Amino acid sequence: MSPTNFSDQVIEYQPPATANFNLVSGEFPEADVEIVTSGGLRIPAHRSILASASPVLESIIDRPRKHRSSERTIPILGVPCDAVSVFIRFLYTPKCPEEEISMYGIHLLALSHVFLVPQLKQRSTKAVAERLTIDNVVDVLQLARLCDAPDLHLKCMKLISANFKSVEKTEGWKFVQDHDPWLELQILQFINETELRRKRTRRHREEQSLYLQLNEAMECLEHICTEGCTTVGPYDMEPTKNRGPCGKFATCQGLQFLIRHFATCQRRINGGCSRCKRMWQLLKLHSAICDQPDVCRVPLCRQFKMKAQQEMQKRSEDAIRWRLLVRKVISAKAISSLSLPKRKREEEARERSDDHGVIRSFRL
Ligand SMILES: [Zn+2]
Ligand SMILES: [Zn+2]
Ligand SMILES: [Zn+2]
Repeated sequence: MSPTNFSDQVIEYQPPATANFNLVSGEFPEADVEIVTSGGLRIPAHRSILASASPVLESIIDRPRKHRSSERTIPILGVPCDAVSVFIRFLYTPKCPEEEISMYGIHLLALSHVFLVPQLKQRSTKAVAERLTIDNVVDVLQLARLCDAPDLHLKCMKLISANFKSVEKTEGWKFVQDHDPWLELQILQFINETELRRKRTRRHREEQSLYLQLNEAMECLEHICTEGCTTVGPYDMEPTKNRGPCGKFATCQGLQFLIRHFATCQRRINGGCSRCKRMWQLLKLHSAICDQPDVCRVPLCRQFKMKAQQEMQKRSEDAIRWRLLVRKVISAKAISSLSLPKRKREEEARERSDDHGVIRSFRL
């Protein structure tokens, strides 16, 4: 690498061995152009190589010149000399060490964008993305926007969104607030949308968990009414004493308590008993998803089916919401019969849902 105090100094640039190396003489052809940098560094180079590596440099080299004196120099200004050196070296051989690309990442990203060198753009984008911090993220975001690097842009937005409280304190953010209200607005919108998406996902998960719980209750209800579980079973069958604990013990146990309560409660539904009301809804729900009402052993299944046919025509808000719930439980049944890992299902089941109008939350 060239020394750091190279201003006003001409440094002999050594093109790497791949550059038009003459096998016979063992020499490079003489440089026919010079790159001039802001620091005054002059880098001798070869037109043919620059032109083949970058279409932009090619058009500069091929451009007819007004002044003959300027023919042999190409200025690359506004970035550190060392970054220009690495850039030119990359045009000769892309086997550039990762550390160098990483060290001048943002400059190389800018250069590779301006001079249309996609391979370098890809590598420098990656290097910049790896060095993203709270302090530089706003600056990098602006660069990503200028250099049309969408992946990097998105990564910056996500980092800002996830750490906004810290980003707000940085110089970069203050600068954007003072000078780029459009970008500020864009960032705030992104944060807002991310938050909304997060809320939607959470609500969806909570709803899904309610439907999965209801589906499990439906399975238990059928199993209790058909084969019997620990304390409740069909009238013509002994509750199974010798069977091991039921696979859905907690739900099954709760449901059996509820059934026993339902059978003996004095207040019942009209008396305003909330537990009875819940049992009533579970039986109604069962009937709505039951596809064999003629042989079904769940109480009231057929009666509810007949009643549901009359209610089919109803367009009331309650009726529509009820039909939606039924559809969701049926799809939850399909989901749970697929291989959703049990642990995940249990985790979800622990979460509560509180925003459904028909069965607000499911507790046995
Ligand atoms: Zn059971
Ligand atoms: Zn009751
Ligand atoms: Zn049934």
